Amino acid sequence: MSLAIIAALTPDNWDIELLDENFDRFQYKVADLVGLTALTSQVTRAYEIAQIYKKKNIPTVIGGIHASVMPQEAKKFANTVVIGEAESVWKDVITDFENNRLKEIYNGNLQPMVNSPQPRIDLYNPGYAFGSVQTTRGCPMSCDFCSVHTFNGKQYRPREVVDVVDEFEKIPQDKVYFVDDNFIGYSKKSTERVKDICKEIIRRGIKKDWFCAASMNIADHDEVLQLAAEAGCRMIFLGIESELIDQLESANKKMNIKIGIDNFSKVYDKIHKYGIAVLGAFIYGLDTDTPETIENRTKYIIDSDIDAMQATILTPLPGTPLFDRMLAEGRLIYNDFPKDWSRYDFVEVVFNPKLMSAEVLTSSIDKAWKMLYDNKRLKRKFINALKSTRNPVSASWSYNSNLHYHNIVFEKQSNKINFEDT
Ligand code: SF4
Repeated sequence: MSLAIIAALTPDNWDIELLDENFDRFQYKVADLVGLTALTSQVTRAYEIAQIYKKKNIPTVIGGIHASVMPQEAKKFANTVVIGEAESVWKDVITDFENNRLKEIYNGNLQPMVNSPQPRIDLYNPGYAFGSVQTTRGCPMSCDFCSVHTFNGKQYRPREVVDVVDEFEKIPQDKVYFVDDNFIGYSKKSTERVKDICKEIIRRGIKKDWFCAASMNIADHDEVLQLAAEAGCRMIFLGIESELIDQLESANKKMNIKIGIDNFSKVYDKIHKYGIAVLGAFIYGLDTDTPETIENRTKYIIDSDIDAMQATILTPLPGTPLFDRMLAEGRLIYNDFPKDWSRYDFVEVVFNPKLMSAEVLTSSIDKAWKMLYDNKRLKRKFINALKSTRNPVSASWSYNSNLHYHNIVFEKQSNKINFEDT
């Protein structure tokens, strides 16, 4: 969404073209100013593109979560780095460019979201199956592996309900993802806000199906779930991470600890009660993991009432306490940066685990993925989802998500480089 937000912040007298490599391979085009954004695993590619323009003396500006936490690295490839959220500084970037005085670094601060412009959704490639809307930024939690609190801050910053629903209504797709890290938040006020968004969608009679990510405490709020289902919610992403309390503690996953592992199944049941599917996200490779715990986690995911199964590899992203610790401990296997950032994509082991070798972790995860994403298993999960949610849309979304994960992990495996080759 970031480039569409940048486009919305850009003065009207500018012509803007958005190139999205999810769809179109980059082809050189002349421009006055080139803006780039990238997550960590994409940044090597963004730097390649920045270099092409830099060589032709066309100024480049890079921002986004990776460049914000690695500005000195990003500066080597782009003329300008915008650190943090762009809303507070983008107008200065444009004015400085127009006056030929572009700086190397701009520091964006965290502003309330109430005045945020609506992203230029007209610029998105029409091929996206899902539209996307962001209703809040920031997270008061500080999970060890997560960079959200570093980048978007610890304060939960909501947008105006009317603005959110206006944008939701304008989206051309009939399927939408609320991209917030936590749609429900942790306060009474944030719970009321979700209810207001759902009520407004219902009041306007907008017929779209959607999914969101939320913390497990969403199950404490029947009224939220009921309104969400009525407003079109078909699936909720839960960051469960692990079924072991010591691992949740070391990952600082406070909400899940508070809910209690023994109550996790009640959370899934409650969400199902309202016809909504559960997308459970888990991590393989936590510090106390062994081949046995990975096998047990896999069995837990299979046996529990989770419909869509995301099981990715612990990945130390820059900007997280996890990255700092692994770097200090000399545990990063791939540390020839920026070249190696492309490996930090959640489906490759990039560090030395504590209780086994990287090779053993890799083979344990390969085995786990074969169990999880076996075609027969996915069909059984679909039937279970249909029974639990009694909603064919929710069940088919969970099935499609599983197929998507199946494709990601097996595509990656077929391209995998052996440790001996590196
Ligand atoms: S993982 Fe989720 S709950 Fe934890 S800090 Fe990140 S956004 Fe917040």
